[in-house]
Amino acid sequence: MHKNTGNAAAMKRSNRKAILNLLFYKSMSKPELAHELKLTRASLGLHADELLASGIVVERGTGESGSGRKPMLLDINASHKHVACLYMSRSEAVIAITDLRGKVKARVMLPADSNPENEMGFIRDSWSELLESSGIDLDTLIYSTACVPGPVDIKSGVMLTPPGMEKWNQFPLGEELAKITGLKVLVENNAASLALAEMRFGLGRTYQNFLYIVVDSGIGGGMIMDGQLFKGSGGFSAEIGHTSIYMNGRWCPCGNNGCLERYACIPALLQDMFSPDEISSWGQVVDLAIQGDRTCVSVMEKEADYLSQALVNYVNLMEPEAIVFGGDLLHKPDLMAKLITERVSKRSITRRNIPVLPSAIAEDAHVLAAATIGINAFFG
Ligand SMILES: [Zn+2]
Repeated sequence: MHKNTGNAAAMKRSNRKAILNLLFYKSMSKPELAHELKLTRASLGLHADELLASGIVVERGTGESGSGRKPMLLDINASHKHVACLYMSRSEAVIAITDLRGKVKARVMLPADSNPENEMGFIRDSWSELLESSGIDLDTLIYSTACVPGPVDIKSGVMLTPPGMEKWNQFPLGEELAKITGLKVLVENNAASLALAEMRFGLGRTYQNFLYIVVDSGIGGGMIMDGQLFKGSGGFSAEIGHTSIYMNGRWCPCGNNGCLERYACIPALLQDMFSPDEISSWGQVVDLAIQGDRTCVSVMEKEADYLSQALVNYVNLMEPEAIVFGGDLLHKPDLMAKLITERVSKRSITRRNIPVLPSAIAEDAHVLAAATIGINAFFG
């Protein structure tokens, strides 16, 4: 008896989650939802009516119908719940409040401090201002999220050994944020969060299996498999920056030799290819290459060689539908996309053309990535 009741409750939860997830991507009518989820119209109607009554789903416009009355379309009510989020890198920190579609209701830019005590002080001092300027009902806040440089223990919310942020080693960020916000805190590393944002708001609408690789002062990754972020057994999956491209190559603090990051992160590449003060950013390299500067074209080719060495291994292991890149490489990304695509396609065992594409999230990717940690947890 208890078991049946439990099964029925689990089934109800699962059906509702499935309805919400479909509506996240597209407004649909009740008959369309019933068809898609293989539910009877009566059963779908019950779930939909309860979701409408709770306020998470709303009626918005009408759909097409072959004949008769046009069906009402259902949609997510994005302002039903909100997420408070923190995005942090070595050079940037921002706190924001977004709705369930990642729309920013308020934000406060903060200095990025190498000392965690100072940074938490900035967040504490700005928290009330953030809440007030958002204008939201505070009862609608469901999570506080933090998107931070890895590695990070996502279960405990403790930052481990983020490169270049030594004072943050072993800092219990989740615990400290909970003290300020009073909310359940979810912590995730930057690259995985960007992959999740790409899944929900970008190229995930076309591809369900892809690797997201972010190249800037480090190299990180996030694996999307069947529409879900693959976290590995302990949250350390997709560390493509720490896959080796030279067996006897440079030593890496991770313990390996020849890690991709030691050659292809932007500071390492620029240091190897230019004399000091000659070129200071990836953007300059791309701009000059587009103008026909041979040296800069060859630097881009070198970067494509490094990255494709690791990406071919990934493609041969996982056979994704696509590879998506972000970070500094998003500056005028077409030439780089072409250079990597050529190399990966020629050398992958599938011999299929695996598209290598720039991220489709051009604006506000960092805040959206931080918000998506909470949005994804809500929709599941
Ligand atoms: Zn390494």
